[in-house]
Amino acid sequence: MQLHPDLTGYVESSLVLSILKIYSNSQDLSEQVAYHCMRYSRRIHDLGALRLANSPVSLPTENPRSTYVQLNSLVSWREYFDLAKIPTAGCISTTNRITSFDSETRTGYMDLKNTANEMTCALTILAGLEATITNLDTKPALTIHLIGAAEWEATKSMLIEELFHLCPGLQNLTVGYVGPESFLLHNCVNSASSTGLTSLHSCKDCQNDGRSIRIFASRGLYHEFLTTDLATQHPPDLIVAFTAGHQDTNVDSWAPTLKQVLASNKPAVFTTFNLKEANEEEAAFDKLGACFILRPQINTWHGLVGYHERSGPKNVLWYKNLYWYIVKGQDPASTSSA
Ligand SMILES: [Zn+2]
Repeated sequence: MQLHPDLTGYVESSLVLSILKIYSNSQDLSEQVAYHCMRYSRRIHDLGALRLANSPVSLPTENPRSTYVQLNSLVSWREYFDLAKIPTAGCISTTNRITSFDSETRTGYMDLKNTANEMTCALTILAGLEATITNLDTKPALTIHLIGAAEWEATKSMLIEELFHLCPGLQNLTVGYVGPESFLLHNCVNSASSTGLTSLHSCKDCQNDGRSIRIFASRGLYHEFLTTDLATQHPPDLIVAFTAGHQDTNVDSWAPTLKQVLASNKPAVFTTFNLKEANEEEAAFDKLGACFILRPQINTWHGLVGYHERSGPKNVLWYKNLYWYIVKGQDPASTSSA
C-alpha cells in the first residue's frame, strides 16, 4: 500500500503498522491515520508540543496588528500563518500539504494543522464579517450570535480575541452562545453580572487599548431567544451556525429558527462538514426564498484535521467548516409557500 508522507518515520511503531493493516490504501484515510498516530505518539513523548492547540490564550497573531489586512486577500492557511509570523509556517503548502518530510517539518506541520483546527471558527467569523460588512476596518463594536452553540464552540471562546489582533479598529466584541446545549450557561449563570454578560480576559496589549470581549449564553432554541430582552439589547451584526446540520438532525426544531434568521434580515453564516450537507441546506433555504450572499463553496478557513464518520460513506473524511454559505433575508418576490 502507498504510505502517506505524514507517516514517514512512524513505520517502526507496531501500533501504526497494525492500524495501517486495517485501513485501505486511501490517501485521505492514510492522512487521518497519520494525524492521529502522530498526535498519539507526541502526546506520549512531548506533552508540551501541542501548546497552541491546548492553550486557548496562545493566539497565532501574538501581537495585535496596527494595519488591517483583509482576510479575503489571503488564499490559504499558509498565508495566514505567514502573516502571523509563525516560524514554522513553511511546513505547510498553500494546498495544506506538508512541504518536506524531515522530522522537524513533520512536527511543525502537525502543529499547524492543530492550530488551524482550533482557529477555524474565529477566522470563519471574520471571513463572514468581511463578506457582509462594508466598513469592517473602522467598526469599533461587533456583536456575533453563535446559534446551535454547544461545548465545541464554547471551548473556542477565548480564541475570538484573534479578531482584536487582526482588526486594529475593533474595540468591543460581544458574542452570544445560543442553543439547547449551550455549554457556557452554567458558568455564566454563576458569574454573569445583572446584564447577563461575562467579560473574558484578554492579553495585556488588548487591555491597555481598552478593548473588551463580553459573552453571554442562552440555553434554548434561537427563535425563542430572539423574543428575550437579551436579544433585543444585543442585536447581531452576524449570526453564525457552525456545522449545525439543520437538515440532518432536529430538523423540526430548526425550521422555525431558520425562518426567524431570515426574518431578522441579518447576515447568517452556516458551515457544513461536506458538500452533501451544504447542498441539502441550500435547497432548504431556497424553499424558504432565502437571499444568498454566498452560495455554498469550500471555506478557505476550514479545519485541517479529517474525521471519519462511522455512519458516513466509506473512505471519505469530513472537515470542520469545510463548506460555508451566507444568507440574509428573503426575496420578496419568492413564491414559496414555506
Ligand atoms: Zn489581545
